[in-house]
Amino acid sequence: MSQDIAVVVEHLGGKIADVAFEMLGKGRELAKATGGRLLALAAGQGLAGLVKELGAADAVLLCQGAGLEPYTPDAHQKAFAAAVKARAPRVTLVANTTMGMDLGAGLAAELGWPLVAYCRDARLEGGTLVATSQIYGGKLLAEAQVAGEHAIVSMLAGSSPAEAGRATGAPAVEEIAAPAAGPQRVRFKRLIQPAAGDVDITREGVLVSVGRGIQSKDNIPVVEELAQALGGTVSASRPIVDQGWLPKTRQVGKSGMTVKPRLYVAVGISGAPEHLEGMRGAELIVAVNTDANAPIFNVAHYGVVGDLFEVLPLLTEKIKSSA
Ligand SMILES: Cc1cc2nc3c(=O)[nH]c(=O)nc-3n(C[C@H](O)[C@H](O)[C@H](O)COP(=O)(O)OP(=O)(O)OC[C@H]3O[C@@H](n4cnc5c(N)ncnc54)[C@H](O)[C@@H]3O)c2cc1C
Repeated sequence: MSQDIAVVVEHLGGKIADVAFEMLGKGRELAKATGGRLLALAAGQGLAGLVKELGAADAVLLCQGAGLEPYTPDAHQKAFAAAVKARAPRVTLVANTTMGMDLGAGLAAELGWPLVAYCRDARLEGGTLVATSQIYGGKLLAEAQVAGEHAIVSMLAGSSPAEAGRATGAPAVEEIAAPAAGPQRVRFKRLIQPAAGDVDITREGVLVSVGRGIQSKDNIPVVEELAQALGGTVSASRPIVDQGWLPKTRQVGKSGMTVKPRLYVAVGISGAPEHLEGMRGAELIVAVNTDANAPIFNVAHYGVVGDLFEVLPLLTEKIKSSA
């Protein structure tokens, strides 16, 4: 049985997804525990340029071909299945993203290996793989002890630091033959980019996020002023976007963006699981809410139980005067 750990590297438009670096960091931890190698697997076309960013891996397995760009689940499943089966890694990490959910499930079915999905963590305890999976939309965490010699684990974005898997270098590269074209049950039609011109909240270091506690669109300047004082950007919970008070590009959460700023200030946000899914990876979380029992306080490092209309102007003033 191989003790290697494999990581499927997700990429789009020539850019490696942050979650891939997160998994390379996690994969390195697992490889240390098994004593095996860390393998990065990527499929697509014109991937040579990406390899130097995968220095955290001991080896990179590349499968290139016209049929593999853009991503489709059937083609990528076929590309990876044979390679993974031949190397039989102890654990294969796949991102729990729109792409990875299809791929992880497809690989598990094809290889007959167990899949643990929606994972926040994976570790080896005395040789047993233990995966922490988020269930019931994030309300519960379940620990799965995975029997067998191989397993596929799909990791939620934001579960571990991407820095741990970011390393430049020249890992050994092995080219894998592209599979013959087969039936495509899912076809790629077009990529819809977010509205141009708006900020990319996934790249912002400071976010002040506004929720339904703000009550009206007319009150949003209260939050904008705090964001400005902090040198940050305004983001939002879904109801704010659904009402058209802020653009979709600002939505944090399950059906919005996953963000990992240095500072996330949640203002009048209850902390529903679908919201937490998009921001619990923030380095420092501060919450302002009138309800002391709001779930946001379970993830916040600092909290103010109070009325945002009283707290925010005071906070903004304080920050401005100390700048
Ligand atoms: C499939 C699916 C996908 C979803 N995707 C997302 C997503 O991507 N992002 C997302 O955010 N949600 C998402 N949701 C919705 C989610 O379930 C919640 O409904 C939503 O996050 C609640 O937003 P909120 O916290 O702003 O509002 P509420 O839950 O209504 O909370 C408002 C909070 O404001 C506080 N408050 C009220 N007045 C004040 C005041 N004056 N000062 C301070 N605090 C005050 C209240 O105590 C309360 O805690 C999704 C739901 C589903 C089913």
